[in-house]
Amino acid sequence: MPSDLIGARPVHPGARLVVLGKQGAGKGTQAVRLSRHYVVPHVATGDTFRAAIRSGSEFGVIAKRYLDAGDLVPDEVVIGVVKERLTHPDASHRGFVLDGFPRTVGQAEALEKILAPFSLDVVLNLDVPTEAVLTRLASRRVCSSCGANYSVPDKLPKVPRICDVCGGDVVQRDDDTEAAIERRLELYERETAPLVSWYAQRKLLATVNGTGELDDVTDRIVDEIDRRKREAV
Ligand code: AMP
Repeated sequence: MPSDLIGARPVHPGARLVVLGKQGAGKGTQAVRLSRHYVVPHVATGDTFRAAIRSGSEFGVIAKRYLDAGDLVPDEVVIGVVKERLTHPDASHRGFVLDGFPRTVGQAEALEKILAPFSLDVVLNLDVPTEAVLTRLASRRVCSSCGANYSVPDKLPKVPRICDVCGGDVVQRDDDTEAAIERRLELYERETAPLVSWYAQRKLLATVNGTGELDDVTDRIVDEIDRRKREAV
């Protein structure tokens, strides 16, 4: 938690946020930081599916097929999962950071209906060039229990392959293979990139440079959110 970075700022708890960006743009890392800063739940659809897969549930077995291939889980399934999560009091009272959802215009339209009469505060578009995300994805390692992020060779766990946070196994994600990455980036361009103009038309979009030091990226994002929250009052 970058408490030294954003702890010094006045905190205005509560926010309804979406984080968009290519695979490997750093959505997950920044979404966790934002959820702590604004004291709202981090709702990551990919994490929900990976947890279902680990549990071995029937739902997990179905989800695994899509995730391993780098394909999108059908809209109706994802929308149901998100709708259920956003009705919990923490999210419905204080807000949320959505990470990995929406990924299609159909999902964005469904989200608008789920939130009505409220709206999102900001949709952040983390902008990182494709060459940079490819490098990040190839070096990415994650804890299979808590999802903490590592990377080879500069940010490894203290004990090889054991998570510093929870002691879980640190592994390469099953969908971080070359074929699945290619498929996921192709789907991003086709299905998710159109959301950038969709949200821009609704005056909700803030594109933020996602390259550089993590703390600097967080700083830029929080500046942008706070500025928009001030303007909305
Ligand atoms: P992520 O952790 O966000 O990269 O998501 C991992 C995988 O979960 C994706 O490649 C999809 O198979 C599935 N997934 C996550 N979120 C969604 C979504 N909003 N719509 C469809 N599939 C999703």
